[in-house]
Amino acid sequence: MSRIVGIDLGTTNSLIAAVDSGIPIVIADKQGKRSTPSVVHFQNSENQPIVGDPARRLRVLKPAETVSSVKRYMGRRYNEIANLEGAAIGLLSNKNAGPVEFAIHNRVFTPEQISAEILKKLKQDAEAYFEEPIERAVITVPAYFNDAQRNATKKAGELAGLTVERIVNEPTAAALAYGLDKLDEKAKVAVYDLGGGTFDLSILEISGGVFQVLATNGDTQLGGDDLDKRISDFLIEKIQTMGGPEVRDDPVLFARVREAAEEAKIRLSTEDSIELTLPFLTSTFSLHLSFSRSELEDLTRDIIERTRQHCLRSLSDAKLSSKELDLVILVGGQTRMPFVRKLVTETFECREFESVSGGLRIGPMPHLSEGPLLNTSQNPDEAIALGAAIQAEILAGGYRNLLLLDVTPLSLGIETFGGLMNVLIPRNSTIPLKAGEAFTTAVDNQPSMLIHVLQGERERAANNWSLGRFTIDFEPAPRGVPRVGVQFEIDSNGILHVLARDIKSGQQKTVEMRSAVDVTDSDVQRMVEESVEHAFEDLAARRWVEAKLRAEETIASTRKALERLKDQVDQGYGAQITHALAELERVFSEEDETSETGDLLKLKAAHGELDEITKPLAELLMDQVMEEALKRRGLVH
Ligand code: AMP
Repeated sequence: MSRIVGIDLGTTNSLIAAVDSGIPIVIADKQGKRSTPSVVHFQNSENQPIVGDPARRLRVLKPAETVSSVKRYMGRRYNEIANLEGAAIGLLSNKNAGPVEFAIHNRVFTPEQISAEILKKLKQDAEAYFEEPIERAVITVPAYFNDAQRNATKKAGELAGLTVERIVNEPTAAALAYGLDKLDEKAKVAVYDLGGGTFDLSILEISGGVFQVLATNGDTQLGGDDLDKRISDFLIEKIQTMGGPEVRDDPVLFARVREAAEEAKIRLSTEDSIELTLPFLTSTFSLHLSFSRSELEDLTRDIIERTRQHCLRSLSDAKLSSKELDLVILVGGQTRMPFVRKLVTETFECREFESVSGGLRIGPMPHLSEGPLLNTSQNPDEAIALGAAIQAEILAGGYRNLLLLDVTPLSLGIETFGGLMNVLIPRNSTIPLKAGEAFTTAVDNQPSMLIHVLQGERERAANNWSLGRFTIDFEPAPRGVPRVGVQFEIDSNGILHVLARDIKSGQQKTVEMRSAVDVTDSDVQRMVEESVEHAFEDLAARRWVEAKLRAEETIASTRKALERLKDQVDQGYGAQITHALAELERVFSEEDETSETGDLLKLKAAHGELDEITKPLAELLMDQVMEEALKRRGLVH
């Protein structure tokens, strides 16, 4: 079998790793660098784009032809990224629901194509190291990536000439790198991953070499980049008050300040105070400034603090207290910042963190009441790539005793009667998995059924994300008769395959949910928060829709019965029924247009009234049906 490499395709930096003679290693490029800035520069329309460090340097001089942080745009549409700042250079605009594209040198590039350039460079580095072609890879993604983002990542791999054997969640890869599979005892581990552009917090349970993700939480738009932006805003203001140039009007100056901001941030992880200099911003103006760690912390505290709520929410999703965790591990360059470590120690009530020399030593597990251990023994920048390499080796058959289990970050379901979401796979279910349910029609002689696949936590379909829709045809029949089985299968890459089968004919359709085409807001976190915020009104909406559906059924059957028995129902009784029908329909007409709900008590009362009044009608109908049946069999004349 050919070699499989592991790739950490990061927002800021990307790495390639592989298991070589049984040992996972990060592969360095010809210059000896183990990490490639995820930056792509297009010199002109003919030549190959420049990737990595040289592109990063060119970003300062030619920002309009240089793309960075492309990961933030993977699998996204314009209306989803309106609030994204930063690498919007060259971004095409005015295409509201269209996929994001970059226009550079009169050519148009998708985020997949740009990511593929980074992957090609990494692939070449590995080929030079192993002196053999590399064609297979495992690529990591943030745990919060949805189907469209995972698929875009896979596509980028394919465009780079790689067969993507598996897409793995970054925190899961990190835990593998920490060698947590070697634990004898059952352990619960929190993986805190703060990189350049994304934040992930996952809680894993590891037992007998099996990794299970108990909960994941995070923010796809929170990372070191946000700190850099905050610092550069601060610097720009300083420059202005000191009589310097308008930095924002000059992209080259702007990029220089941004780089200086990041450099200052990194230096302040090891130094208490630094002298920050930006020489010759104009021919007469240079910036000289003392900048201290505590100033940096004051400036960026609220950004780092935002990670705390995600940690607490994950604990609550996993139904754990921090004391029940055994270990907390740190991933992502930004976790080198001392303030981040302090926040993590505080949030998870960690014991003094223990730096382990000479490789990994985890046991013995601390006593529960002592709180988890903060383990910082691995290089936070490389843990994900190394974990991806270990996963690649498992797939290649090198390591046999590991199994990976991940969870779904959001519930998956389909739209049913009345525009409600019917959940087939609840949030935080362990994948891979399959789940199914049978559905029927609401209208007589319906020739087909629309399968509208949804992702989200809200009761109403319209408030969730639409992953896609397709129809399945069947022989028309009275309502309630056709049966359509719908099965959801999530594979080990987290990609959803939907199967719909007409149970009568056995005909079926399978659709891979390739992209979240109609997703209007891909911020998973916001979705979860909104579902909590709107929990009461959502429940009221579901109750109203369900009560209304039942009432509509009664109205339809009453009308049918009245029509059928019109010769036997006397005028007075008929008028009574018509009045009760009108009363019930009046409650519908009072429905509030914006909330699409109405007075549930009134509806139930009017429905009860109609039920009561139609009892004699129902009996009459029953008698007639019986009589007709007996007649058909020749038992009465
Ligand atoms: P990653 O996505 O894991 O490559 O993380 C990159 C982010 O980590 C960038 O925002 C870097 O500025 C930041 N970073 C790297 N090293 C350090 C450091 N020593 N201190 C603070 N932040 C760092």
